[in-house]
Amino acid sequence: MPRFGGIATFMRLPGVTPVAELDVAVVGVPFDIGTSNRPGARFGPRGIRSESVLLRPYNMATRAAPFDSLRIDDTGDVATNPYSLHDSVTRIEDHFRALLDHGVITVTLGGDHTIALPILRAMAAKHGPVGLIHVDAHTDINDSMFGEALAHGTPFRRATEEGLLDPRRVVQIGVRGTGYEADDFDWSRSQGFRVVQVEECWHRSLGPLMDEVRSQLGAGPVYLSFDIDGIDPAFAPGTGTPEVGGLTSIQALEIIRGARGLDLVGADLVEVAPVYDQTGSTSLLGANLVYEMLCVLPGVQYRS
Ligand code: MN
Ligand code: MN
Repeated sequence: MPRFGGIATFMRLPGVTPVAELDVAVVGVPFDIGTSNRPGARFGPRGIRSESVLLRPYNMATRAAPFDSLRIDDTGDVATNPYSLHDSVTRIEDHFRALLDHGVITVTLGGDHTIALPILRAMAAKHGPVGLIHVDAHTDINDSMFGEALAHGTPFRRATEEGLLDPRRVVQIGVRGTGYEADDFDWSRSQGFRVVQVEECWHRSLGPLMDEVRSQLGAGPVYLSFDIDGIDPAFAPGTGTPEVGGLTSIQALEIIRGARGLDLVGADLVEVAPVYDQTGSTSLLGANLVYEMLCVLPGVQYRS
C-alpha cells in the first residue's frame, strides 16, 4: 500500500490490537471547547494522523527503534461530548484510567490543553504525583477564565491544587508573550516550578537545558505535555493561540530527545488546529514530535 493509501491511523499502525497486549497506546482526544480564542483543535488528532503516514519507523538521528522495542498501537479516540466540557473531562479521565489499568504508557494527540487535567488525574491515580515537562507559550496556570475553573488556560493550576504534580519536579519551557498581569509567571515559580522563558532559549541549543531538566526531574514518574504553540508560528501556524518569538522546530526535537532516560509514564501533543494551516506543516510537525516521544519512552532500544 502506498503511504497515501489505506486508513490513516497514527503512522499506519494496525489500530486493532487489544489494549491488554500493548506497552504504548496512542490515543486521540478530539476536543476544543476549552479554547479561549480560535477553536479547531478538535481536528488535531485527524490532522496529525493524516500527516503521520509520511513517517518511517526508524529514527536516523538517535537510532531509536521504538516499534522493534515496544508493542505500540493507535487505540483510537476518546468519545468526547461536544456540548459539555465537564462531561468530556469526565469521559477523558475515565478513558485514561481504563487504559492505565492495562499498564500502558499513553501518548495522546490533542485536543486543546484542557485535556491535560483529566489525563493527569488518571496518571496521578496510577503513579502518584508526577513530574512534568510542560512546553508551551503559556503557563496555563490561570485561576479561572471567564469565571470557569476548567479551560485550556487552567489545567496546571488545577493539577497543582489537586496534588497531581510534584511541584519541585516541574519545568515549563518556552513561555512568552503578553500577560494579563506583570506577575503572570510568578505563580508557577512560587509553587517551585522551574520556568524557562523563551528568551533563555533563543539562539542556542537546548541540549544543556535538558541536561539540567533531567537532573531536576530525577528518577520518579514524569509526564510530558507539549503544546504546539510553544513552537514559533513560522513553524506551527496551525494553532489557536499563536505567540511570536517561539521555539524552533529543531529546539522542539532537542527537548523531546533530551527527555530520554526519564521515567516517562505518558505524553501529549496538544493544540494542533489544522484549519489555520492549509499546508499541513503544523500537523506534520506534530506527528514528528509524537514519533520522537515514542522514541524516548522507557524500554526503547537503540540500534548501534
Ligand atoms: Mn497550553
Ligand atoms: Mn499555549
